[in-house]
Amino acid sequence: MSDSKTWHDRAATAAIDGRAFINGERVALGESFEKRSPIDNRLLGPIARGNRAEVDAAVASARTAFADGRWASKPPAARKKTLQRFAELILAHRDELALLETLDVGKPIQYSLSVDVASAAHCIRWYAEAIDKVYDEIAPTGPNALALIQREPMGVIGVIVPWNYPMLMAAWKLGPALATGNSVVLKPSEKSPLTALRLAEIALEAGLPPGVFNVVPGYGHEAGEALALHMDVDALGFTGSTRTGRRMLEYAGRSNLKRVYNELGGKSAFVVFEDFGDIERAAKTVAASMFFNSGQSCNAPSRVLVHESVADRFVEIVAAQAPRHQPADPLAPETRMGSIVDEVQLKTVMGYIESGKAEGARAIVGGRQVRSETGGFYVEPTVFDGATPAMRIVREEIFGPVMSVLRFKTEAEAIALANDSPYGLQASVWSDTLSRAHRVARALRAGTVHVNQYDEDDITAPFGGYKQSGNGRDKSLHALEKYTEIKTTWLRIDGSGG
Ligand code: NAD
Repeated sequence: MSDSKTWHDRAATAAIDGRAFINGERVALGESFEKRSPIDNRLLGPIARGNRAEVDAAVASARTAFADGRWASKPPAARKKTLQRFAELILAHRDELALLETLDVGKPIQYSLSVDVASAAHCIRWYAEAIDKVYDEIAPTGPNALALIQREPMGVIGVIVPWNYPMLMAAWKLGPALATGNSVVLKPSEKSPLTALRLAEIALEAGLPPGVFNVVPGYGHEAGEALALHMDVDALGFTGSTRTGRRMLEYAGRSNLKRVYNELGGKSAFVVFEDFGDIERAAKTVAASMFFNSGQSCNAPSRVLVHESVADRFVEIVAAQAPRHQPADPLAPETRMGSIVDEVQLKTVMGYIESGKAEGARAIVGGRQVRSETGGFYVEPTVFDGATPAMRIVREEIFGPVMSVLRFKTEAEAIALANDSPYGLQASVWSDTLSRAHRVARALRAGTVHVNQYDEDDITAPFGGYKQSGNGRDKSLHALEKYTEIKTTWLRIDGSGG
C-alpha cells in the first residue's frame, strides 16, 4: 500500500460494482442479490443475479467476437502483447483487487496481495509469453501427401469457478483460453463475484476487444445452469465441487455435447514414514498447508497418515503450530488465517467437527467457532487424532481448517489407506529412502504427488486430479489443449513435378 491509509480505511470507501459485463460494458442492474462480507457481515452491495437472458446476451456477444475474428484472427504475437498488458494492469491494480478479494471471501489481505493477485497476473503473462512459441505438427505420412495437424481455438468457452481463489481460478482458465484465441463467458461464484467483474474491465483497458471476455455473475442453478446448457458454448472450463462437476457432464449430455473440463474436489493424503528424519519439518508443513486459506483449498492435505512409531511426536508438533494459525482480522496486514467464506460454509465445517467427535475422533486442538462478536465467520484450526478410515471427516471433503490424523503400521497399509478415497487430486509421501519414496509416489492415485515437501507449485506444471477429482488439467502448456480443437488438413502432392 502506497499511502498511510489502513486497509480498513480503504474498505470503508471501496467502490463495489456488481453489474454484469457484456460486450465490453457494464449492463444495467436487473434482478440482484445482496452480497455480504464474511469478515463482519457488512453489506458490500447488490450483485447482478444473472439469468438466461443475460447469459444469452453474453454468449451472443462472445460468438460475434469470435466469428468476426477480432481476437481469434490476430497473430499470436499480437495476442501476446495484449495479454502481457493485461497482466501488467492486474499488477497496477494490485491493492484494489486484493482488497475486493479479501472483502468478498475473507482471506488475509497479505495473501490476497502476494498469492491471489500476483499469481493471477503471473498466469496471464505466462500464457501470453507461451503462445507465440508453440508450433503445430506435420504427420509423418508418405511422399505424395502432407497432413497438417493444427490446433484451432474452439470458439466460445464457458468458465464457471468457485470462491476459494476466485481470481486465480479464473486466470487458470482465462490464460490458455484467451491466448489460443477463444472468447469467454465467465460465471464467478455468487460468493465471490467482485474481482471477476473488475478483471473484465481491466482486460478491456489492456486492449482486449469488446465481447471477447464477458462476466455474468449470479447463482449456480440460474446463470451457471444457463451457461452450461447453452447450445452455443463449445466448452466448459469448470472448477468446483465434485457434485456440481457431475452436473456439468449431464448439462453437456442434455445440450450440445460441449467439451467439459472438470477440476473438482479433493481429500489429499499426506503420508509420513518412520524413516523420514526431519519430522518437525513434515509436521510444520502439513499445518501450514492445511490451514492456509482457512483450509478452503482443493489440495489441502486433510488426511494425514503417520507411521505409528512417530505419530505421537508428529501430532504434538502439529498441535503446537495451531496458535500461529489462529483466525484474526483479515484486513490486518499480519493476519495468517481469515474467515470462512460464509455462514453456510461455517455451519458445514462445524457440522463435520461435531460428526468427528460423535464418531470417536479426538479434537486435540481447536474445534470452536471464534470471533463471532465481529459478525463474521471464523473457525479455529482443528486437528483430530485417532481418526479411522470410515469416519465422515476422513472420507468427505470438509473445506475448512480441519485435519484428521490416522496411524498405519506398514507401507502397504499406508498406500491402501491413501488410495481409499473417491478423490485423487494430490498426495505426498515423506521418506528418506529413495526407492520407497519412488515406489509409494508411483502407487498413489493422484494427479500430483509431492515427495518430502508440499509447497512446490509452478505455472509450468499441470494441476488436476485422478478419479472424482476431475479430468482436466489447469496450468502448464497442457491447458492449451483444453481450449483448442485438432484439425487435420490433407494436401495432395503430385510426384510428377519438373
Ligand atoms: P460449487 O460446485 O458449489 O460451485 C462452483 C461454481 O459452480 C460456482 O460458480 C457455482 O455458482 C456454480 N454452480 C453451482 N451449482 C451449479 C449448477 N447447478 N449449475 C451450474 N453451475 C453451478 O463449489 P464451491 O463451493 O464454489 O467450491 C469449492 C469446491 O471447489 C471444492 O470442492 C474444491 O475442492 C473445488 N476446487 C477444486 C479445484 C481444483 O483445481 N481441482 C480448485 C479450487 C476449488
